[in-house]
Amino acid sequence: MPKVQCPDCERQIAMHELEAKTVAQSSGFDTHYRCPFCRTDVNNVTEHLV
Ligand SMILES: [Zn+2]
Repeated sequence: MPKVQCPDCERQIAMHELEAKTVAQSSGFDTHYRCPFCRTDVNNVTEHLV
């Protein structure tokens, strides 16, 4: 199970625990993820995989 390390609070978050928010944009849909602990936006999730 892949985990992501929050760049702010440095907790390890399971992928399914991330808060996902899908935003409609002119080019389509973009999904943003957020740390459930400190509410920091976690962009480029793949760069923070543990
Ligand atoms: Zn965090």
